[in-house]
Amino acid sequence: MKQIILAIGAHPDDIDIGCSGTVAKFVKEGADAFYLVLTDGSKGSEDAKIPNRELIKIRQAEQQEAADLMGVKQVFFLDFVDGELENTPALRKQIVKIIRQIKPTTVICWDPTLFYDADRMFINHPDHRKSGEATMDCVYPFARNARTFPELLDEGLEPHVVEELLIMSFGKANYFVDISETIDKKLKALACHKSQFNDIKKFTEMIRGMNKMAGQKAKPKLKFAEGFIRITLRKPN
Ligand SMILES: [Zn+2]
Repeated sequence: MKQIILAIGAHPDDIDIGCSGTVAKFVKEGADAFYLVLTDGSKGSEDAKIPNRELIKIRQAEQQEAADLMGVKQVFFLDFVDGELENTPALRKQIVKIIRQIKPTTVICWDPTLFYDADRMFINHPDHRKSGEATMDCVYPFARNARTFPELLDEGLEPHVVEELLIMSFGKANYFVDISETIDKKLKALACHKSQFNDIKKFTEMIRGMNKMAGQKAKPKLKFAEGFIRITLRKPN
């Protein structure tokens, strides 16, 4: 069966940071890939003078350019406000709609349990947690449950069972994807997000280092890897 991937992030650039090496590898192996960006990205600048509408446009264009590089079939942009994402029925309905529309075998999302990482001196963005939580709720149970959002059935959007959930994870990963052949492509995709980084070289080197470290955790070791917590799901009996 053809692998269909849906990677879901909160902001333009999330997917490129967390899993685009994996997406590129799977696409190379014949998968169809789709991105879903939940917020408008309107807080992603320290320059308070850029109008929201302009920043949203710039960031969507950057994300589209990065996705095109990876051979992604389509990027869906929702317009939930950056920094205000909540796991609401309205958000879940939009995610369920897209899951039922493209019928992914694999969904990729952020880790909803990651608040901070004291080892890496890092506090996670609340939108990342909320996007992970909403995505997980949609993968199970809502996208597969006919009685959730029954109005979607009238649009021909039938329940869909996702087979595999990959949760992007730095600290708790139990599943490593070898991205040694796609890391250069990933760093190129990251460089598309010009509005986000003052020193793109420094940032891409940091990501390269993280993916190298993930590769060291894999068994057997890999040159470069992206780490996930992998959950496979059974079809209903
Ligand atoms: Zn983000």
